[in-house]
Amino acid sequence: MTAYPRLLAPLDLGFTTLRNRVLMGSMHTGLEETKDWNRVATFYAERAAGGVGLIVTGGMAPNREGGVFPGAAGLFTEQDISNHRIVTDRVHESGGKIAMQILHAGRYAYSPDCVAPSPVKSPISPFPPKELDEAGIEKQIADIATAAARAREAGYDGVEVMGSEGYFLNQFLVRHTNKRTDRWGGSYENRMRLPVEVVRRVREAVGPDFIVIYRLSMIDLVPQGSTWDEVVMLAKAVEAAGATIINTGIGWHEARIPTIATSVPRRAFTWVTKKLMGEVSIPVVTSNRINTPEVAEQVLTDGCADMVSMARPFLADADFVNKAAEGRADEIAPCIACNQACLDHTFSGKLTSCLVNPRACHETELRIEPAAAQRRIAVVGAGPAGLSAALTAAERGHAVTLFDRDNRIGGQLNMAKKVPGKEEFHGLIAWFETMVAKSGINLRLGTEVAPEMLDGFDEIIIATGVRPRDPGIPGEEGANVLGYIDVLRDGAEVGRKVAIVGAGGIGFDVAQFLAHAGESATENPPHWRSFWGVGDPEVTPGGLAPDGPQPDPAAREITLLQRKAERPGKRLGKTTGWIHRAELQMMGVAMRGGVGYDRITPQGIEVSSADGTQPSLIEADTVVLCAGQESQRDLADALEAAGRSVHVIGGADVAAELDAKRAIDQGTRLAARL
Ligand code: NAP
Ligand code: SF4
Repeated sequence: MTAYPRLLAPLDLGFTTLRNRVLMGSMHTGLEETKDWNRVATFYAERAAGGVGLIVTGGMAPNREGGVFPGAAGLFTEQDISNHRIVTDRVHESGGKIAMQILHAGRYAYSPDCVAPSPVKSPISPFPPKELDEAGIEKQIADIATAAARAREAGYDGVEVMGSEGYFLNQFLVRHTNKRTDRWGGSYENRMRLPVEVVRRVREAVGPDFIVIYRLSMIDLVPQGSTWDEVVMLAKAVEAAGATIINTGIGWHEARIPTIATSVPRRAFTWVTKKLMGEVSIPVVTSNRINTPEVAEQVLTDGCADMVSMARPFLADADFVNKAAEGRADEIAPCIACNQACLDHTFSGKLTSCLVNPRACHETELRIEPAAAQRRIAVVGAGPAGLSAALTAAERGHAVTLFDRDNRIGGQLNMAKKVPGKEEFHGLIAWFETMVAKSGINLRLGTEVAPEMLDGFDEIIIATGVRPRDPGIPGEEGANVLGYIDVLRDGAEVGRKVAIVGAGGIGFDVAQFLAHAGESATENPPHWRSFWGVGDPEVTPGGLAPDGPQPDPAAREITLLQRKAERPGKRLGKTTGWIHRAELQMMGVAMRGGVGYDRITPQGIEVSSADGTQPSLIEADTVVLCAGQESQRDLADALEAAGRSVHVIGGADVAAELDAKRAIDQGTRLAARL
């Protein structure tokens, strides 16, 4: 008897049956643009073999003007169709089904050729769109229908028409982006004419026995967004026009409310999809921040949807569904919703991967294969780098001993998990614990390793991490000065007025930790909704709360400082940095860049600024030092001095810009070739 009877139940669509209720949501990976079709096929085939019910590809452009960026992939030529056939064949051979998403970006296209219902520039693109005339609109509809027909020719089982997140179809629906006065604008019947016509023409192009998913924005989270009555009207019209499934979209890309970041509560928006249940007779899919089979099962049990979409969890673990079905859910590598290797890469023009699974989108190049001969491998340091190296080496059949001086594994992850909004790190550490226990690794915790203890090992991997950098500020030895480890790990007492020296990832984490009192809003969805101003689309169009955000005031008076004369937090994650900044600012945390640290006194910290206009004393009961980190290499240096050859990874190798993504990637890649 499975623990996930609803999630694993087949879904009968009439002309075809999906093997379970798990939809792998669309993600732009950048793989198609590599033009290495074996690589694209391997990525999707691994997820199909891993048990996904229905895969949806990353968005394919229906034409040049609709591409998210110039050169975006699409099915434009016969060659494109045969390339995509490589993918669909491999997915089918692996037992899966796959639908191609058709994504027309409209005014979100990063191109001077972008088109939209009206010439209203988006705040997230530098290019004002051209307003389409009647012929232009017909061309867009025809191109989308043609893309669907080509998808069928390429062997796909269906298409997903991207109608949410503020893209082209969504832009027709709301008055803010649709100012037209012809039959495509004005009344809601007119504004929804284009999306409905697209579905009708797509159905006409593909015939009756082909899956057509419509991704519908159920809560826009922007001013002048759709009302709930409009959402329902559109859903019914889309069903009547021939859609097989309705998928949920949450928030436009320009919304200033986080929708998928790690600080968003799990299943934060399934209540929105639930409102649509019963309004249409085709299956409805819910989405956003669902990352475990337990949560997915509960969502279905609660009647929120007929099917669950998860996207990033399939970067973290291709075998998610099989592991759930086989009673091995504790072995599923958890997506911690950090965006660090997926969306942050996409938005920097880099290929997608995953912080916890560096093989994601690198399946053909990073292969974990049985070792030719077993070797005895010592790994010193059980942080992310050491853990990944140890697990990969053990998986390949090596005899691994993993040491740490601490009496628990996890290294710096143990500090991250204490930060409100980063609760997912608990799950990541628990997963590492499970995998270490099941791997046969000889785990030696509470062990300070001396060089001679490593005699007899064939390979030595040093992953001893980092130590805090000493900024050398006069007065830093005072009783009112703490390091971030004192605060985050040891729970040192901190006063009411706090100055934080250093506004990098850890400075922000410490500010977040000290600003919050009591529960984390991430653990309490109503509290989180009120903090960010998420309302009910039945009450306010777009689902913005009538009274706006109601952030908690900070529990302390906090000033975050840095020397660089730039906006603090500028270098945080591309897709999440704005959330960390906004959250602290909403709570009243002050941020100052361009300061010099003169001295720390019992009254606080004296700073100077280039123009001399800033007050020189920032009053503080406690000053917390978060001035970056340096490599901890003592053991590596001692071993090398004794003539031993060692592999140094993670923060012990390079401390600058260290994060778990680099540490895990480096550890995995090293062990894959030993
Ligand atoms: P960091 O991001 O490199 O920041 C170090 C901070 O210390 C900077 O604000 C820097 O700014 C300041 N600093 C550097 N040298 C200093 C000196 N001698 N005296 C005074 N201030 C100095 O390092 P971190 O905050 O320790 O974080 C370590 C890594 O962990 C980061 O690279 C990050 O990737 C990762 N991390 C990430 C997250 C996340 O949310 N993604 C969270 C936590 C940690 P100025 O030089 O301008 O003063
Ligand atoms: Fe999830 Fe982070 Fe991996 Fe992206 S990089 S899939 S958010 S764990």
